[in-house]
Amino acid sequence: MEACNDYYYATRDPLGAAGDFTTAPEISQMFGEVIGAALADCWTRAGAPADAIYAEAGPGRGTLASDALRVMRAAGFDGAVHFIETSPVLREIQRQSHADAKWHDSLESLPPGGPLMLVANEFFDALPVRQFIDGIERRVVLTPAGLAFDRDGEVVEDSPVRDEAAREIGALLDERGGVALVIDYGHASTAPGETLQAVRGHAYAPLLHKPGEQDLTAHVDFEALASQAAVGGVKVTRLVSQGEWLKRLGIGVRAAALTDASPERAAELASTVQRLTGKSAMGELFKVVAFHSASWPAPAGLE
Ligand code: SAH
Repeated sequence: MEACNDYYYATRDPLGAAGDFTTAPEISQMFGEVIGAALADCWTRAGAPADAIYAEAGPGRGTLASDALRVMRAAGFDGAVHFIETSPVLREIQRQSHADAKWHDSLESLPPGGPLMLVANEFFDALPVRQFIDGIERRVVLTPAGLAFDRDGEVVEDSPVRDEAAREIGALLDERGGVALVIDYGHASTAPGETLQAVRGHAYAPLLHKPGEQDLTAHVDFEALASQAAVGGVKVTRLVSQGEWLKRLGIGVRAAALTDASPERAAELASTVQRLTGKSAMGELFKVVAFHSASWPAPAGLE
């Protein structure tokens, strides 16, 4: 999974209608704006530290960062922007709208300094999972008919790579202060089950079909993430569904303002809100959690 996704992301921009999948920030500016508003509010309540930085893990096209930072800049935040991104193709696209950002291969290379405001939207789901059947790791083997799993049965997934990333975020927040917002699709509690999936051209594809040519993701185990982040002592907020959180943070008010400004967009904006918040769309499967240092408040809507 790791090798496939490294190649996959390194060789293309997978986002949008012409790509393989679409994410919330690519659906609407309102998504990033709400995140920016939540972070700006945290930053203000933390005393508006001038040395705070904005960081984003897996920023895609940089769209979420543009929308979030527009709101944060308006609130007075003037800090630096750091992107954790391995794909050279996506880095180039990010550079077009964030010329002054700094890029990193991993969280460890963020420069030391002030408090961190970190965002990770659909980042963890792309990090590799392992699968176990009866306690033995499931492998992919080459057969005369092509790639195949070495056995079937009841699958349990875990992810040392995600665990490590969550621990690192927790340690960074502990050390420098700040807050991290994680948005992803997944489940609230650790449970057995196979969630690995392949997506290509906006449709599910056979898992082992075209390694490196289709997006591999697995549900995020938020319980595992939270327990790893909390190892260093940071606080973990409640887990709230994306739909509920966006509504609590006033996506309806934002949509109404945009509709007032462009009445001809009324139907489009209403369907966008529905796509981001509706239970059968992204609203229920996608979830939001924050990690924050003792010195920083929990973001609004997650207290
Ligand atoms: N957050 C964006 C993009 C999500 S796609 C959005 O919501 O639109 C996943 C992102 O994570 C891509 O930018 C991809 O290149 C990046 N990524 C995947 N694996 C990574 C890794 N191991 N380290 C850093 N970035 C990674």
